[in-house]
Amino acid sequence: MNSRDYIDIEERYGAHNYHPLDVVVEKASGVWVWDVDGKKYMDCLAAYSAVNQGHCHPRIVAAMREQSDKVTLTSRAFRNPVWPLFARQICELLDYEMVLPMNSGAEAVETAIKTARKWGYKVKGIPKNRAEIIVCSGNFHGRTISIISFSDDPSSFENYGPFTPGFKMVPFGDLEALKNAINANTAAFLVEPIQGEAGVVVPPAGYLKGAAEICRKNRVLLIADEIQSGLGRTGKMLASEHEGVKPDMITIGKALSGGLYPVSAVLSNRDVLGVLEPGSHGSTYGGNPLACAVAREALNVLVEEKMVENAAEMGAYFMHQLQALDTPHIDFVRGKGLWIGIVLKKDAGGARRFCEALKEHGLLAKDTHETVIRLAPPLVITRKEIDWAVEKIKTAFSSF
Ligand SMILES: *Cc1c(COP(=O)(O)O)cnc(C)c1O
Repeated sequence: MNSRDYIDIEERYGAHNYHPLDVVVEKASGVWVWDVDGKKYMDCLAAYSAVNQGHCHPRIVAAMREQSDKVTLTSRAFRNPVWPLFARQICELLDYEMVLPMNSGAEAVETAIKTARKWGYKVKGIPKNRAEIIVCSGNFHGRTISIISFSDDPSSFENYGPFTPGFKMVPFGDLEALKNAINANTAAFLVEPIQGEAGVVVPPAGYLKGAAEICRKNRVLLIADEIQSGLGRTGKMLASEHEGVKPDMITIGKALSGGLYPVSAVLSNRDVLGVLEPGSHGSTYGGNPLACAVAREALNVLVEEKMVENAAEMGAYFMHQLQALDTPHIDFVRGKGLWIGIVLKKDAGGARRFCEALKEHGLLAKDTHETVIRLAPPLVITRKEIDWAVEKIKTAFSSF
């Protein structure tokens, strides 16, 4: 079978909730992938930053194999020896007192919302069922009903009502609006330090720091959704570090497993995560030994192979090379670390056709919101590989 055959079967039997580029990836290693017809591509999406450590990292694959032969799932009705070690490792690495393990990113965000509400009632003293959580315009936090209830992207929420109440939206990057939206019932402010799905939108300098200050003064929890921005993508372990901010609670996911397995987590201190008691929240697969073994090694390679440092250095280089491109189609280039948005001019004809052209030239990238091409390669990318990518981008752009 060739690519076309697989695509035809997928279109016939699979629900059409995505619009993928027509590339059928059969194997992958590091920043490179191969399709079923044997063509090689550079992956500049890295599965929305889940593959920060590079595809099929041999150490993470080995950890997964090894744990698979021992025990994979006990459920947390019983204990296993890997979850405690993962819990200690991640708390020490990210400097929090407690962690709650889940599977997908959306589940981590749901967990953070539940925890913040419960903290609001039990600690802050908000009247029953009145807790409010402030969110930002342009946000992306996942696909569950409650999460899309506070999305302003019609493609996310249309026809999925009725929606979950208790959320208030303020413009991303606007501290005055945040201040004005807070009242006695505000439990938390949920924000992406840099908005990924919105098109790698970097807020004004000082925004997160200012938000942290406002939250602290008003006894509102600052929840940073670091599911895409965290674990090295922006050139720091957490994107919040760029502003010296330590959020009250963070959600992480995606690269927590290096792309091998769905693993997510919520981290906070005892005064917040401590409000949960046995039976009040959970997940059958959350904290399972296979997930914990994979996550432990995914974190080890991130640190030991200095991928965060590489993201900072290579990201700056990549950005510089892209900003120097001479093409009439690019409006500007933005981002942080190895997380880059090429913003096209309104009359460039849309980002999708550029991504399709890039694919023909052997580079996989993803359009977001019509006019932005997102580049987010695995953090193991080298200078030589970036030079290769820039050449391909140059060629693809000159074909229009
Ligand atoms: C991807 C993402 C999520 C959702 O993660 P899933 O694993 O797809 O549920 C939540 N928040 C942010 C910022 C994300 O980028």
